[in-house]
Amino acid sequence: MDLGIAGKTAIVCAASKGLGKACAVSLARNGVTLVINARTKETLEATAEEIRKSTGVKVTAIAGDVTTDAGREALLKACPAPDILINNAGGPPPGDFHDWGREQWIGAVESNMLTPILLIKAVIDGMVARKFGRIVNITSSAVKAPIDVLGLSNGARSGLTGFVAGLARAPGFANSNVTVNNVLPGAFDTDRFRGVLAGQAKKSGKPAQELFEARMKHIPAGRPGEPNEFGEFCAFVCSQQAAYITGQNLLIDGGAYPGTY
Ligand code: NAP
Repeated sequence: MDLGIAGKTAIVCAASKGLGKACAVSLARNGVTLVINARTKETLEATAEEIRKSTGVKVTAIAGDVTTDAGREALLKACPAPDILINNAGGPPPGDFHDWGREQWIGAVESNMLTPILLIKAVIDGMVARKFGRIVNITSSAVKAPIDVLGLSNGARSGLTGFVAGLARAPGFANSNVTVNNVLPGAFDTDRFRGVLAGQAKKSGKPAQELFEARMKHIPAGRPGEPNEFGEFCAFVCSQQAAYITGQNLLIDGGAYPGTY
């Protein structure tokens, strides 16, 4: 399917690895010019070069922490008028809420709520003026079905979700061909997924493989998702064909969420 987005430009945040990288790759395969970001310059440059070589599109790498004003300013300076914005950042650490104080909560809200909101604010009016915009926030299945040890994520991402639900439907956006959606990953085989498993293994004294197999029993697909499955779906949400999808929370989890709706 031709997604009709060749020649568009995208900012993809937190995109040197994992789900952000997969979204960048899928957009590039569809001819989208990229500005990608992550904190570690070497990994980011390597990813940019890999995408340039495999797709031939222009990729600009802007190293920096997207959760800071300086990181966001650098991204927007490199790409002040994106057609597509993919919001992403590292997820908050797992833990027990008794151990989290104001600092931990502010950190989670900064990363997983305020950062995407501030980037949306910076680019959405330009999208309206140009009559095309696609904004995708990578959130988590934890927004729909909270995960006890991920309280920081459950809370901060729910704030973003509530904001987006109102914004996407506010006058002037959807009727200007500007959509705003959240894509909610379940278990995807990335460094973060493996890192969380390793942390749980250390804490519980159980082998990581045993914990992995136990988790897979709760996923009807019987496996974690591949990042490219996430990236391809994200590219579709950014397509011309997806113009009538907005304000949605799109779960991609191998059937793990047990509800009918
Ligand atoms: P990942 O494989 O660890 O990749 C994270 C990427 O984000 C890396 O490129 C990392 O590069 C970059 N990054 C992290 N913090 C950043 C920051 N402050 N500024 C700029 N770049 C930053 O993680 P992932 O699995 O793709 O997860 C992506 C998001 O989806 C996270 O918020 C995660 O919580 C959420 N999620 C993932 C899963 C899953 O199963 N994988 C499930 C639910 C939700 P640097 O470290 O160099 O900055």
